[in-house]
Amino acid sequence: MARSDHSINSADIFAKAHQFTAADEVKAKGLYPYFKPLTDTDGNVVVIEGREVIMAGSNNYLGLTNDTRLMEAAQNAISKYGTGCTGSRYLNGTLDLHLELEEKLAKFMRKENCVLFSTGYQTNEGSIQTIAGRNDIIFSDKDNHTCIVVGTLSSNARTVRYHHNDIAHLKKLMEREDASTGKIIVSDGVFSMSGTLAKVPELVALAKEHNARVYLDDAHAIGVIGEGGRGSASAFDLLDDVDLISGTFSKSFASLGGFLVGERSVIEYIRHHSPAHIFSASMPPANVATVLKALEVLQEETWRLERLEEISNYMRNGLKEHGFNIWTSESPIIPVVIGGLMDCLEFWRDLFDEGVYANAVVPPAVPRGQSLIRTSYMATHTNDQLDNILDAFRKVGIKRGIIDHNGHSLIE
Ligand code: PMP
Repeated sequence: MARSDHSINSADIFAKAHQFTAADEVKAKGLYPYFKPLTDTDGNVVVIEGREVIMAGSNNYLGLTNDTRLMEAAQNAISKYGTGCTGSRYLNGTLDLHLELEEKLAKFMRKENCVLFSTGYQTNEGSIQTIAGRNDIIFSDKDNHTCIVVGTLSSNARTVRYHHNDIAHLKKLMEREDASTGKIIVSDGVFSMSGTLAKVPELVALAKEHNARVYLDDAHAIGVIGEGGRGSASAFDLLDDVDLISGTFSKSFASLGGFLVGERSVIEYIRHHSPAHIFSASMPPANVATVLKALEVLQEETWRLERLEEISNYMRNGLKEHGFNIWTSESPIIPVVIGGLMDCLEFWRDLFDEGVYANAVVPPAVPRGQSLIRTSYMATHTNDQLDNILDAFRKVGIKRGIIDHNGHSLIE
């Protein structure tokens, strides 16, 4: 994922901020789609600007954020442990709950060991920075999430970026490197904007050929795809062949925090060396208890994963039939490509007026001219809600000249 360049020639370091007017300009047009406060929510339906709209842009894949069992678990944890841990895991911030969750996640993911971080972002940033040292090389997909990019930048290793999901390119780049150098391939398991899966079998094969390790960020995959929700490596029956797998609790687990699983010594090394782990306060009790309950529900209520898959297929087909370009989605993340930035914001506003909330994604998060509406789905969406979302897209798509009445795309 690209990063913005904030450089500007001025003697005043604040000049860039003083010159930043884009958000105000878009707000003045009534098209600003960001930081919208939700004043109420049941997960599926949220209240924004005083009106109820269907949520079609949440990472709440299993639909558990408003589940009474999870809420009760969080409340009980607060009653017992209080509201925060006020310290790092390393020092005063470890609860028995943290250890229980690490043990259960390692077991669930069929790996030897697990370490928790306080966010998914810190998990990747902190783990990559720590495991890749001065003499190592990180091979990183160009579309990897920003926290991976930041992890590579803050590590002392050299980073080589390969074209998105382009195995031939990666192979060429790997062949150039010295056999004696430590190597790791890092990729999102499911890419967060396109909903595309990483080519895990090919990554694993290349890694074996070049004596490299494989690291997958399964933020959008664990609790979403794979056997029992074990993520992208599991989807290809390759759990044993992927060395490190990270996950987040802010999506299917309906909480906040993250984790990394892998072999015992590697996880212990990261636990004892990662600055993001050591110098940041641990997950609060309510967050941990929520995840413990979510993990239980994920394993007991298998219908959630089945329904999520059914819904994803239904929405992909529905949007395609209407003529939309949904890129290469293979998961509950389904982008709808609009094109220009302002066109995308106008589309977003019309969709909202039709009673649907989804996310407007514009450069640098996506390439210029590829602004999109990122939709994502939950196991708890009803059929009526899904059809309402499709109807709203169709209506706005025709109005905005993105599709015609016969289900054809009108844009490139
Ligand atoms: N990895 C990916 C692929 C993500 O999409 C995200 C969040 N959008 C993260 C990591 C960071 O997770 P969190 O929001 O839980 O910090």
